[in-house]
Amino acid sequence: MGLTGFVVHWQQQYAAARKQLQRFAGAPAGSGVVARSLSREQARDLVVHYWVNQVIRMERWPECDANGNITWPKPADKVKLKLNIAGVQFTPNNPQAAGWTETRELDLRNVVLVVRFTQYLKDNWGASVIFWGGLGIGGGRNDSADTHTEGLAMDFHGAITSAGHFDVRRDWGNQRVPAAIGGDKAGRWPGSLNKTSYRLAVDPLDLGNFVLGTVGARGFFEDVYQFLTTQARHDSPEAKPRIGEGSGILHPDTPWAWLRPGHQNHFHFEVAKV
Ligand SMILES: [Zn+2]
Repeated sequence: MGLTGFVVHWQQQYAAARKQLQRFAGAPAGSGVVARSLSREQARDLVVHYWVNQVIRMERWPECDANGNITWPKPADKVKLKLNIAGVQFTPNNPQAAGWTETRELDLRNVVLVVRFTQYLKDNWGASVIFWGGLGIGGGRNDSADTHTEGLAMDFHGAITSAGHFDVRRDWGNQRVPAAIGGDKAGRWPGSLNKTSYRLAVDPLDLGNFVLGTVGARGFFEDVYQFLTTQARHDSPEAKPRIGEGSGILHPDTPWAWLRPGHQNHFHFEVAKV
């Protein structure tokens, strides 16, 4: 079979696979369920729905038996995503992943979380590139299973949007913590402090900072945080989402002293605990 023949054959196979899965074209039952509350089966149906609608590509196509029941992926299977998700380019922040063309294996609930996060940034911020880490790989911290190696989490390092390029380290982690909210002389959180707030929150009287400061980044990261609290594992005891609360979502102003140094350059979020 020549190249043209191969391409035609492939296109026919692809069309046949999509046709077989047409019942997933419409929004499945899990569409209205927040990601952290999805059952594995709901997540699987959403993943097939995304594939049929070309929101994601995976290392394989979904497969089903003669009765139209999905045989791959099964609800507990993990999948690798190609690095264009919902029309947004995913660029690895981690040099270890620089040449990758797909993520490592992801829990299907996390695929839904990542897709919704991406669609949110695209629809609300015009995101075209997302800088990511940790999709199926750990940070090399230890050998035991963690939410990254289990495919349950993502690290978000920044994005190129229609409002500019936002970088978590440059625009947040490297910004001074004002003394008025607890920053030390170097403009850092004291190493043992377990109570923080959003360092970019602006004093309305500080007009210089308001005009010259990271106005765009402040609003962007706040918005990202608020969105994540609606979908990712949050588990905060506080009534109103607030950067600085004790949460499953980690970032440069994480209150816990032992987790804060490792999160100066990214948000960590996850769909579930291991
Ligand atoms: Zn992480």
